[in-house]
Amino acid sequence: MQELTHYINGEHVKGTSGRFADVYNPAIGEVTAKTPLATAAELDKAVQAAEAAQPGWAATNPQRRARVLMKFVDLLNRDMDKLAEVLSSQHGKTFPDAKGDVVRGLEVVEYCIGAPELLKGEYTDGAGPGIDMYSMRQPLGVTAGITPFNFPAMIPMWMFAPAIAAGNAFILKPSERDPSVPLMLAELFEEAGLPKGILQVVNGDKEAVDAIIAHDTIQSIGFVGSTPIAEYIYGNGCAAGKRVQCFGGAKNHAIIMPDADMDNVVDALIGAGYGAAGERCMALSVAVPVGKETADRLIEALIPRVESLKVGPYTAGDDVDLGPVITPEAKARINGLVDSGVEQGAKLVVDGRNFSLQGYENGFFVGPSLFDNVTPDMDIYKQEIFGPVLSTVRTDSYEEALKLVKDNEYGNGTAIFTRDGDTARDFASRVNVGMVGVNVPIPVPLAYHTFGGWKKSAFGDLNQHGPDAFKFYTRTKTVTSRWPSGAKEGANFSIPTME
Ligand code: NAD
Repeated sequence: MQELTHYINGEHVKGTSGRFADVYNPAIGEVTAKTPLATAAELDKAVQAAEAAQPGWAATNPQRRARVLMKFVDLLNRDMDKLAEVLSSQHGKTFPDAKGDVVRGLEVVEYCIGAPELLKGEYTDGAGPGIDMYSMRQPLGVTAGITPFNFPAMIPMWMFAPAIAAGNAFILKPSERDPSVPLMLAELFEEAGLPKGILQVVNGDKEAVDAIIAHDTIQSIGFVGSTPIAEYIYGNGCAAGKRVQCFGGAKNHAIIMPDADMDNVVDALIGAGYGAAGERCMALSVAVPVGKETADRLIEALIPRVESLKVGPYTAGDDVDLGPVITPEAKARINGLVDSGVEQGAKLVVDGRNFSLQGYENGFFVGPSLFDNVTPDMDIYKQEIFGPVLSTVRTDSYEEALKLVKDNEYGNGTAIFTRDGDTARDFASRVNVGMVGVNVPIPVPLAYHTFGGWKKSAFGDLNQHGPDAFKFYTRTKTVTSRWPSGAKEGANFSIPTME
């Protein structure tokens, strides 16, 4: 059994609290490591190291900082297989999907290499007589991020790459379920030339999170995870005077119009509904066919595809479509929700509850399930299942389908499948969801656009990555200057108008 560490000031440091969380290999169902759960005093050590290191890093030219990010990209590519292997072994997702997790983070690091351009200020020459005015973007200082289990490489990189490129120090509190990849990322960044103390990993649970919220030196908090925790951290972080952005849970609908290309729809729903065992905030978990005929054709086409999905361990490489879920509790919760769907009257057309894999009987595998005739009052509709379960809600018209999406409390992602440009355009314009796909099932924006949901899927004003990230991780300072040759008029007691 491996005892994991924190990564503070360039060193692996053992936990001192005596409290640990279990890290499983979900494919075999065994505890393989223990994550130390930090105290406020351990967090404070990291904050002190960050505070000492940050001014030097902020004073380093942005292009020199960018060169460290360039080298970090090289090292991520060098160690891609190793990172993906460790990621799969703690998360359970397939090996190709684990590589995707690293790559979608790496792409944000690549984008942040352009930080010198993004950090450029504004300048007005001659804003008044002999007066120049300029704005600069300065780092916040010590920043922190709290991340979920489901993307242990991508989401930490979405936060720390722009924070660090902008000249901040960053303290990462990753999920206690799969913290080894975040620890490896911190080591790799230092190998690339990052000074000690600029990226640190403090492992922990609520106690560490509360210590982050309470610490006066920490200027900002980024959070990604479930909605109740997002609301808690947003409310308390803002009350503590910090800059906070929190991204929460989701229930993503796909509207299927009668004119949609059904082959494309089925491929899309299979990949986006069941990939990563449904443990994605952008998973499509609700299919909304419009019209009885569309619904009947959809269900008929989906059943054989869902039944033939290959569920297995990541060690099977490309031969599996989805792996196990993260913990025994997650497995029990998903199966319990499927039970509730049956009890509340939905039609379970593919039942994954009794799935068992020979040789992996103790693994946290959940067979894929497909529901028809789901209604909005059922728990399987109201709750984020975060498992390999697709619910079908039948509707009679486009307007009814649109209303369903609009009335849902979450607003992370959605998609429409149609051949009709007018309908697609109307949907993109009217729907109250942050990321919209048109015949695209998982519309995760690329690094140079921004990522963020609406409604209960996000709290705060700015999105993740893209230009928003540099706004989040910097403050604007505006200087108005006049040199002695222009300062000859004596005192002026009115507000300056620069006429
Ligand atoms: P989670 O909310 O349980 O945990 C997220 C983080 O919060 C972890 O670091 C955890 O240690 C910490 N945490 C847990 N309980 C806490 C508490 N009581 N007080 C303070 N901190 C606490 O989420 P998870 O299970 O790791 O991840 C799955 C969730 O994340 C899903 O709801 C999913 O939709 C969401 N998610 C959202 C996005 C997005 O961009 N909107 C992306 C990925 C995942």
